[in-house]
Amino acid sequence: MFVDKVRIFVKAGNGGNGAVAFHREKFVSAGGPAGGDGGHGGSIVLRVDDNMSTLMDFRYKRKYTAPNGQDGQGSRCTGKRGENLVIKIPRGTVVRDAETGDVIKDMSDGEDFVLCRGGRGGWGNKHFATPTRQVPRFAKAGTPGEEHDVVLELKLLADVGLVGFPNVGKSTLLSVTSNAHPKIANYHFTTLYPNLGVIYVDDGVSFVMADIPGIIEGASEGAGLGHDFLRHIDRCRLMVHIVDVSGCEDRDPVEDFERINEELRKYSDDLAQRPMIVAANKCDLIPEGSDNLERLRAYVTERGYEFYEISAATTKGTRQLMRTIAAKLKELPPVIVYETEYVKPLAQAGRPEDLKIQHQDDYWLITGSWLARLMGDINFDDYESRMYFDRQLRQCGLFARLEEQGIQDGDTVCLEEFEFTYER
Ligand code: GDP
Ligand code: MG
Repeated sequence: MFVDKVRIFVKAGNGGNGAVAFHREKFVSAGGPAGGDGGHGGSIVLRVDDNMSTLMDFRYKRKYTAPNGQDGQGSRCTGKRGENLVIKIPRGTVVRDAETGDVIKDMSDGEDFVLCRGGRGGWGNKHFATPTRQVPRFAKAGTPGEEHDVVLELKLLADVGLVGFPNVGKSTLLSVTSNAHPKIANYHFTTLYPNLGVIYVDDGVSFVMADIPGIIEGASEGAGLGHDFLRHIDRCRLMVHIVDVSGCEDRDPVEDFERINEELRKYSDDLAQRPMIVAANKCDLIPEGSDNLERLRAYVTERGYEFYEISAATTKGTRQLMRTIAAKLKELPPVIVYETEYVKPLAQAGRPEDLKIQHQDDYWLITGSWLARLMGDINFDDYESRMYFDRQLRQCGLFARLEEQGIQDGDTVCLEEFEFTYER
């Protein structure tokens, strides 16, 4: 079973809570605050693994959670941080936001990508000691880890994509020119998952060619595999259209050529516009008196395509074709890498009941997961951003609640980590 598209849920670990604790020692009365900080939560990290060629591993496991940071302890002990959870994926996997379909990241270069950030550990009470407040009875909770529903989509990284009717010899061509060993047989839809082969042309020149499963719907007893596999040649720089000119399946090569082009157009205009060359295959099998080869040549050259004659089975012309391809690739732009489109939506204020208000003397500590998330999105150097923050807090009724609980002008308010002096 070949799996090339999956939806998964990922969640980074929460930060551990800070501790409220006091130093205790024999003969020392009233020790200072000694509550340690919570550990940071583990992040979700994506890593390319070149030994993987499908998203099979994700078929049954759909949920990935990185461990939480541990809570802080007394004696100033910081909680253990949660390990990052590294998820391995094949090169060329495109990560999208499940809701909007926007590209979050194209995993084509080999660099690790942090998909969800772990939450920060909260401060222990030792951070809240001041000369006037020597017995702070509060600590901060850890912030929640980010979470995301994403779609992983495998789009192979190949320079060249082979297209053509089933059984025309695409897999055979790949097998005689590259290190790949695709399945070859004389029936339609032998190839059930994409094959990549590296083709070495002389002096250090090489390229990657992909053979994908058949794309003709309804052909061969309705066994067509549809358009799904075309996504694997989405990035190709050049398409090589293989046409069987032997007539051994009683089809017309010109019609075949047009039908495949039609399928490509149906899938994407973009792909249909990609540079293409045409190779007539099974030239060794052409019966006496057939004009298949000449008709196809006239038809495609008239339309501006370059045309080559090969026999994949006997390898006649295949080496020359590979050289031509290598030379063409030099002139073409590099393999497409998808730009990031996804923009994280700005966090909004949640319910005021979900905020924790801790109050001691003239100090008010306000914490809560949505507040931490909201503050993470605010740029406090930017006026607009600050105003957005202020509006969100007013709308959710936080200030009204503080008033009810008796906050006075001049008191200090600490929102997560941002302290300010309260004024009505
Ligand atoms: P694909 O479906 O396009 O991948 O086609 P395959 O590579 O699996 O080939 C289908 C059949 O055609 C196999 O039996 C091959 O041996 C045969 N074949 C492929 N190329 C040639 C060729 O150039 N000449 C001859 N005589 N047979 C070929
Ligand atoms: Mg095949």
